[in-house]
Amino acid sequence: MQNKVTQLFQEAHGREPSIISRAPGRIEFIGNHTDYNGGTVLGAAVDSGVWVAAAPREDGRRRWRSAIGDAVIETGGELTKLEGDSSWINYPQGVLAAMQSHGLALPGGFDFAVESDLPVGAGLSSSAAIELASGLAFLAMTGQEVDRETLVKIGRKAENDFVGVPCGILDQGVSGFGKRHRLVFIDCKGPKFDRVPMPEGAHFWIFNTHTKHALVDGLYSARHSECMAAAADLGVKQLADATLELFASEVHQLSPTVAKRARHILEEIDRVGKSIAALERADLKTVGELLTASHRSSQHAFENSTPELDSLVDTLTRLPGVYGARLTGGGFGGAVMALTDGSFGEADADVVVETYQAEWGAEPQVLHMQTGEGAELIKPDAP
Ligand code: ADP
Ligand code: MG
Repeated sequence: MQNKVTQLFQEAHGREPSIISRAPGRIEFIGNHTDYNGGTVLGAAVDSGVWVAAAPREDGRRRWRSAIGDAVIETGGELTKLEGDSSWINYPQGVLAAMQSHGLALPGGFDFAVESDLPVGAGLSSSAAIELASGLAFLAMTGQEVDRETLVKIGRKAENDFVGVPCGILDQGVSGFGKRHRLVFIDCKGPKFDRVPMPEGAHFWIFNTHTKHALVDGLYSARHSECMAAAADLGVKQLADATLELFASEVHQLSPTVAKRARHILEEIDRVGKSIAALERADLKTVGELLTASHRSSQHAFENSTPELDSLVDTLTRLPGVYGARLTGGGFGGAVMALTDGSFGEADADVVVETYQAEWGAEPQVLHMQTGEGAELIKPDAP
């Protein structure tokens, strides 16, 4: 990918980039809808991502090129939101706006190019990857350094405030703190970041259904409100402040629907803790059971699954080599992630695709991934 982004930069701008950076996509491993409840979540940075090549310009012009577009686009010094084919530039422009509000200096003019081996919109957060890779490039261009946490917050602010997507801290946190053979643990209260070992030999397989519930935004906000109602009924500020014991003693006060939502969040936070303990003793069998339990809880208690996602999990959990499977991300469509051992291969993935095709008349997109490194500056080398 380094060669590809360099080549794209050379074609677009007719010179060599002085800066190259990259940032990975991420998988929500376990911890479903826990973020806005002040809970915990585990994510994996994957071994695919977004690459940025850049070089400063003396004339103040900003010239942007991505392999997903087909032309160089020019902007001036002002950060104005773009639409249509140029709208991808809102992500790096949002990073500039967020850097500014963090009191950081901005580069003047520059040439910029983006390449990626991460599918867009597959639930792997290509948006966080472009934000973090851009952030590292802009910092390098201006000779500034920030700690990881600040880089992550700048990326999130770009997406929340400039692009206007109300994502939680998972996407940028995992892209920023990811490591090969590690998962990223985030306590969303704070937020606090840590890493957990991911035993070697574990593989991720993603089956992206390309389905999306027509009412997904309304369903998200309904779940959000139900969780806030549950916290109020339990007398806590956020659901993560309640224990399973408190829930058991107060559950009769909650409406049946609100009780189901609260049960999912509290048990999910419990599963995150149990997953960490199992990962630390390299017990992938238990981890897999927790992943599948998370899905079943989404299916029956939080009700953010779909029949398509359920059928993928049903098929996957019957196949040898699969530790467990669950929907990954917000749900109401999207993708299922399976954790497998090395014996699970293309032929097994084909079985999953054929079974799905026979039932739903469409093919899911299949991606095979492992853990990868978090965001990094590739050129110039760190001093
Ligand atoms: P995802 O789940 O992949 O994060 P989003 O809709 O949140 O999906 O973000 C995808 C957007 O991020 C794209 O529409 C585009 O604007 C931007 N993006 C991702 N990858 C690239 C790329 N290689 N070049 C330019 N923009 C990109
Ligand atoms: Mg995104």
